[in-house]
Amino acid sequence: MFKVLERIFRDKIAAESISLKGSARFRGRLTGTAAADMLPQCQAVCPVGAFQVQDGDYQIDYRKCIFCGKCTDICAAAVLKEGIQADNLLHCSNEDAMPYLVAAGKEVLAEVLHQKLGRSLHVRHLDAGSCNACDFEMGAMSNPYYDLHRYGVAFAASPRHADLLMVTGVVTRNLEQALRMSYEAMPEPKLVMACGACAAGGETYGDTYAVLGGADKIVPVDIYVPGCPPRPPAMIAGLLAAADMLADRMK
Ligand code: SF4
Ligand code: SF4
Repeated sequence: MFKVLERIFRDKIAAESISLKGSARFRGRLTGTAAADMLPQCQAVCPVGAFQVQDGDYQIDYRKCIFCGKCTDICAAAVLKEGIQADNLLHCSNEDAMPYLVAAGKEVLAEVLHQKLGRSLHVRHLDAGSCNACDFEMGAMSNPYYDLHRYGVAFAASPRHADLLMVTGVVTRNLEQALRMSYEAMPEPKLVMACGACAAGGETYGDTYAVLGGADKIVPVDIYVPGCPPRPPAMIAGLLAAADMLADRMK
C-alpha cells in the first residue's frame, strides 16, 4: 500500500508506464542501410508504394507502410546470394513509428507520454472499412494495462460530443457519407486522426470499385498514426498530442 502511495505521489499515477518498444518479433520503424543497387528492388517489391528512393538513399512513407518486411527480406536475400556486407542492413526495429502532426509538420515526440495530468479529450471512433485489427488494438487502449483513461481521454457515444474523430480503415463507398456526416456533426474546434495504414495512406487494398482511399480524401486530417495495425502506445501518443493541439486551439 505504501509503495502504491509513494508511486502516486512521484508519478501522479500508479499504472504501468507505456513503452514505445514492442517485442523482438514486432516489426516497427525501418532502420539500417540498403546497398544502393538494392534500392530499386526494394521499391519495386513494396506493395503500397511506401518505399521511396531519393538521392541514392531510401525514405519510408509511414502513412502507407504496412510493415510487411518485403523490402528487408529482399536486402537479406542479397546478402546471402551476393555476399553484400551485412553490417547494419535495412531491417525493422521493434520501435513504433510515431504519429505525424500535419500542422506542426513533424512527428510526435515520445515525451508526450510523460505529461500525465491536465488533459481532456473526447474521441468518436469511426470504422470506415477496416479489417478490424486496428479496432482491436484501439479497444486494448482502454484495458487496465494501457489505461488510456489515466490521461483524461474518453470515448464519446456521438460525434456531437467529440473533440476528435478517430478513423480506422480505408474509406469504402458505403461509409463515405457516415464519415462526412460524423465530421460535420462535431463542434469546433475539431480534429481528425487517421489511424493505421488504411486510413492514413489508403493504399492497403489497392484501387477497387469499393474503396475511395485514405481518410484525407474525404475530411481534413490532423494526425496520421502509422502501423498495420498501430500498437496501442502509438495510438495513445497520437491522442495525447491531439489533446495538446486542442488546448492550443482553444486559447
Ligand atoms: S515494410 Fe513498408 S516500406 Fe517495406 S515493403 Fe513493406 S510496406 Fe513497403
Ligand atoms: S491498417 Fe492494417 S490492421 Fe488496420 S484496418 Fe487496415 S489492414 Fe487492418
